[in-house]
Amino acid sequence: MFFLKKVICNDFIMNVVRAYKFRLYPNKIQEKEMHAHLFLSKNLWNDGLEFAKQIYLYYQRFPSRQAYQEISKNSGLYSQVAQNVFIRLDLAIKAKIRCKKNGLKGGFPRFKSIDRMKSLRYPQNGFSLSERKLKVTPFGEINIRKHRELNGKIKTLILKRESSGRWFAILTAVARSATTLKITNGKQIGLDLGLMTFATLSNGEQIKKPKNMQRYEEHLAFKQREISNKKLRSKNRRKAKIRVARIYSKIADARRDWLHKTANNLLSRYSFIALEDLKVQEIAEEHGKGVGDAGWSIFTNILSYKAESAGCDVMFVNPMNTSKECSDCGTLVNKNLWDRQHNCPSCGLWIDRDFNAAINILKRATAGIAGCNACEDEAIVSSMKQEAHALKCG
Ligand SMILES: [Zn+2]
Repeated sequence: MFFLKKVICNDFIMNVVRAYKFRLYPNKIQEKEMHAHLFLSKNLWNDGLEFAKQIYLYYQRFPSRQAYQEISKNSGLYSQVAQNVFIRLDLAIKAKIRCKKNGLKGGFPRFKSIDRMKSLRYPQNGFSLSERKLKVTPFGEINIRKHRELNGKIKTLILKRESSGRWFAILTAVARSATTLKITNGKQIGLDLGLMTFATLSNGEQIKKPKNMQRYEEHLAFKQREISNKKLRSKNRRKAKIRVARIYSKIADARRDWLHKTANNLLSRYSFIALEDLKVQEIAEEHGKGVGDAGWSIFTNILSYKAESAGCDVMFVNPMNTSKECSDCGTLVNKNLWDRQHNCPSCGLWIDRDFNAAINILKRATAGIAGCNACEDEAIVSSMKQEAHALKCG
């Protein structure tokens, strides 16, 4: 479950749109039919794209949404699903035009193969949900596992097929929720997301990636190599691909679960969390973190929306030089990726590089905020500094 957006906001009540993802268990016939509909919507997408290209060739403009209507008739799909294919196509074309205007790179929508068409979207009706069944036109009642309560009025449905062959229903619902009262314990923490350890906190604590995840990843790499040994376009290659997709979704599930738990843990202990803003891509690259784990952005998303309902604050700071800057005296100390220690020539501070960065992140987030407790960390830093001096001298 995740927040999509806040719709209206006043002091106490707001409308929140949330998405819920539930596993579907279609029977053989339903699965076949759903797959056939994916195939039809793939064809529809390709027809629409061809149409758009032709129109552009003759008139130097792209067709309006209404112009697509003619093609969507008799497509064999549920009417709203068919229309939605063109809405997506239209949005993709407009996104490309916007990119071009702003001088950005962006691809023009491509013709899709069946592997790239993964979802059927019901923007308003054509479905209803009961306790154990999801009734969808024209597939009938599909078994669903509602593993959590759904609050609010259901608005849209997406039927999604993953590469591993599993089907999911993604339902969005609008609920009116009173904003939670802020229960703050006033504790603040800075978080540095890293390559070696998942995160280092500004109190020196480290959050390590779970070991079993690494084992999964090795297994995945092994199975991926298997694919390349199979003949191109052979049945065995297809089978190997499905095996890899299954492992991949298992890893993704386990990782998401772990990220949720980690976020919950942090939010139960701290009411203010500072992180680096990883959206600033170029800076992040300069920072030596260009090749990051996808887990980071999922984690920051989870943390942000959970913080909202937990009454905590999450702040993102500029990541420029957080690992170079000395957290004690501010001197910039150049480091390579493999330098694991921050060793300051001016003040003698000698601590773990990620620990140093985490302190900097918290400092940046709390700069100018009264009552910040960065001092807790300052005490730790000064004691470590003394230790380092003793080590050097002794
Ligand atoms: Zn220093």
